[in-house]
Amino acid sequence: MRSLLTLFLTGLCAATALAQQAPPTSRTSGSLTTPFLASRGLVRCGTPEMVSGGWNFNPPSDCSYNSTNPTAAYEPDEIWEITVVFHILRDSNGSGNVTDARCHSQIDILNEDFQAMAGTLGAPGYDTMVQFKLATLDPSGNATTGINRHLNSTWHNDGGGYYNSLAWDPHNYLNIYCNEASGALGYVPYLPQNGSPGSNSDRVVAYWAAVGRNAPIGPPYNQGRTVTHEVGHYLGLHHTFNGGCGSGNCYTSGDRICDTNPEANPNFSCGNSSSCGNSDPISNYMDYTDDVCMNRYTLEQTRRIRCTLQHYRPNLAEPIGGGGLGTSYCQSNLNSRGLMATLTVAGSATVSDNDLTFTVDDAALNQFGYLLMSVNQGNVNNFGGSMGVLCLGSPMIRFSSNVLNTGSAGTVDFSPNLNNLPQGTVFAPGDTWNFQLWYRDVVLNPTSNTTDGISISFQ
Ligand SMILES: [Zn+2]
Repeated sequence: MRSLLTLFLTGLCAATALAQQAPPTSRTSGSLTTPFLASRGLVRCGTPEMVSGGWNFNPPSDCSYNSTNPTAAYEPDEIWEITVVFHILRDSNGSGNVTDARCHSQIDILNEDFQAMAGTLGAPGYDTMVQFKLATLDPSGNATTGINRHLNSTWHNDGGGYYNSLAWDPHNYLNIYCNEASGALGYVPYLPQNGSPGSNSDRVVAYWAAVGRNAPIGPPYNQGRTVTHEVGHYLGLHHTFNGGCGSGNCYTSGDRICDTNPEANPNFSCGNSSSCGNSDPISNYMDYTDDVCMNRYTLEQTRRIRCTLQHYRPNLAEPIGGGGLGTSYCQSNLNSRGLMATLTVAGSATVSDNDLTFTVDDAALNQFGYLLMSVNQGNVNNFGGSMGVLCLGSPMIRFSSNVLNTGSAGTVDFSPNLNNLPQGTVFAPGDTWNFQLWYRDVVLNPTSNTTDGISISFQ
């Protein structure tokens, strides 16, 4: 139960947050809130747009506050992992809890959305190759769950400068505070281009009831997209309706991104809407639409995010390789070497490039195998007497003309000709296919095993 004082403060802060948003240049219709939010004294997002004067303007780059130059230099080629610490700031009466399970599910949602994982709500998006994990070590090197908890009514009400007491070095950790968020579903105090990244105040703040999957706030804000949206700001993205329809060059006005249509106002539901002569980008995480209809960051937003990490948060993300394409899913079982074979892919997801190379590691030695593929995923343990897991559904297609051998290292590299696939298969842009290697193994008797599965969305 939120106190009257809280509601009063919330109203003040909500008004402040709204006042800080630069009004769209053209506002033809719509409202900046909904009955759902208004009845709870909430605003959708409290992240301020640029406040003139008084703020530090960080050095120019290809992703400065006012412009974007999304060159291919920022195209993701390896996974960058960000370490997250949650600070759960409950009221002294105990309200405002976020369970460990909800924190874990929020990390899952961030990864589903930022990596456009197949089979999730975020699948239609562009894979930013930014990954999130809960901290396992605190700043002193001690083991941690990555979730800190405090009972403090002032902090719960987003006051008292809690971050000066609680922040884990914001150069190295993404600090997410869960409290009343000053009457917004969430906010960041500034975009890194327009503030002080690395200072104690550098953070994401989320309304505690909107954190995690099936969060207690209920529909339409209960699928964790508030944090996806705020982390977008934290990584340098503007609202898609920033500056309304903009003024000419889409890299220097509006949201400083050209592959998101400009829109005059935020959209608050899943209904199709148009403004500025285009359909509105209602599926973009940086609009204000319902959690269930948001499903993408775009290619240019991805490049702005990667540029922001390089220029304004250089110590935050750790490169962890995984330079390949696709999304791994469905683990297999240990083989005769006591290892779980893995399948990765490098090259291009653009079909016309005809540039895919599959790599198998940790397979059994000197055995033959085949690559398998299907449009459907599966998960059948010990299928047909195999030691492995079949990660593909029917209908399944075997690259039977390409018998592979794992050799003395238990590895395989295979580059199929995409212009001559088995059974006349043709990959089309927009298709998603799933792949897995089946290979012979011997444990007393001949058997077989498999790699994990990998899913590729073609362009
Ligand atoms: Zn926002």
